[in-house]
Amino acid sequence: MSDKKEILRKLPKTDEMLQDEHLLFFTQKLSARTVADTVRNLVADYREKILSGEINEAPDKDTLIEETVRTLRTLERGGICRVVNATGIVLHTNLGRAVLSERGVKAADLAASGYTNLEYDLEKGCRNSRQSHVEDLLTEITGGEAAIVVNNNAAGVLLCLFALAHGKNILVSRGELVEIGGGFRVPEIMELSGGILKEVGTTNRTRISDYEKAITEDTGAILKVHKSNFKMVGFTEEASLSELRELGDKYNLPVIYDYGGGLMTNLGNRGVREQSLMEIMKAKPDVVLFSGDKLFGGPQAGIAVGTKEAIRKMSEHPLSRALRLEKMTLAALEGTLIDYLDMKSSIKMNPTLHMITVEKDELRLRAEHLKDMLTKAHGENEELAFSVTEVEDKIGGGAAPDAVLSGYGVVVTSDKTPIMTLEKELRLSSVPIITRIRENALVISVRTLLKGDEEAILCAFKERLKTC
Ligand SMILES: *Cc1c(COP(=O)(O)O)cnc(C)c1O
Repeated sequence: MSDKKEILRKLPKTDEMLQDEHLLFFTQKLSARTVADTVRNLVADYREKILSGEINEAPDKDTLIEETVRTLRTLERGGICRVVNATGIVLHTNLGRAVLSERGVKAADLAASGYTNLEYDLEKGCRNSRQSHVEDLLTEITGGEAAIVVNNNAAGVLLCLFALAHGKNILVSRGELVEIGGGFRVPEIMELSGGILKEVGTTNRTRISDYEKAITEDTGAILKVHKSNFKMVGFTEEASLSELRELGDKYNLPVIYDYGGGLMTNLGNRGVREQSLMEIMKAKPDVVLFSGDKLFGGPQAGIAVGTKEAIRKMSEHPLSRALRLEKMTLAALEGTLIDYLDMKSSIKMNPTLHMITVEKDELRLRAEHLKDMLTKAHGENEELAFSVTEVEDKIGGGAAPDAVLSGYGVVVTSDKTPIMTLEKELRLSSVPIITRIRENALVISVRTLLKGDEEAILCAFKERLKTC
């Protein structure tokens, strides 16, 4: 026991710690009370650990200060906070997938901060559908007859199957009974919709004749699912959407395509071998469904485009009320769609498309600029070394898994700090910087950096040296 007392006595004194300049800095940003409470809680935690024998050495003052600063920074950031995506993964699901365009942001802000004509027809002075704002834009841009939007693509598929094939057999290729990121499992959604799954073909090969053989009086729909997040190679075969369309016409069955990504324009020349929505629309599926926040580059939403009849059935289904999109998202989606009215300029306006298509030379210049900034800030004798490197970026978000976007980044190496520690320090800085580790070096990819991110990175490195 006396040992423990001895250790406890070595614990830094709260009052002494509160005089530290780093903590004084936070008393201005937060409050003196918050800082004092944080220190007390931390010291109390250590006290307990010492008494329980979990540790048998008191932490020194610097360690305690560092831990306090980390906690205070978390408090200062609050809940959902800005982070810098330096991973080079454009649609990073953990970091919120697509970044909205300027028009999308403005529209969402407007909808959030005041009253709007969300469900009001200004001409007639009466109630209107919230869908009307985006339906016309969607039909104009995609060439579909009608459209409806819901919460996300999972909701869209659920609503579609409910409305079109409840209690009926739904034909799906065995090779497409897949799980897409975040636990979207095709067989489970199907079951939830009250449709009866009829698997056709084999895992690697499904022919149109396999579908035809499976059609009975109880068949309600043909569903095709895009293998968004994986590729099958080798001895494979699948029925095309056009073939399925023909079959659907022959037996008077709706053809539904769960497309996922929502790429609005062909990017084949950028190494993105995904069919665009325009190409899909040529096959005239009854309904095509995709996410708002994947390659489409908008807010989280489930977008369904198709025939008047199919979309009417979806709109009239009671579930559509439960899955309806809220006003900020709807406004953001409208803004994103307006950008698409001019397909050429949309590639620049839509951050997702812009980040995917940006020229490699531009990325190299940006990487060199960032390297120079960091080198200058760190001086000659620092333990860290910065250099420019080629990197392989990705689209992410479970889209086009084999598409490699070749770009540039800054490599950070250190002969003192372990790279894992450095990664963590940056991740826990005031504005967290999310990086990748490659061959015992830290990589900052510049493709996914947004306006002001370079400064935030610089600041995070300075914070390490406690000069920020
Ligand atoms: C991503 C994806 C989904 C799920 O979409 P969410 O918008 O995340 O709900 C469903 N199907 C396919 C083919 C997908 O790619």
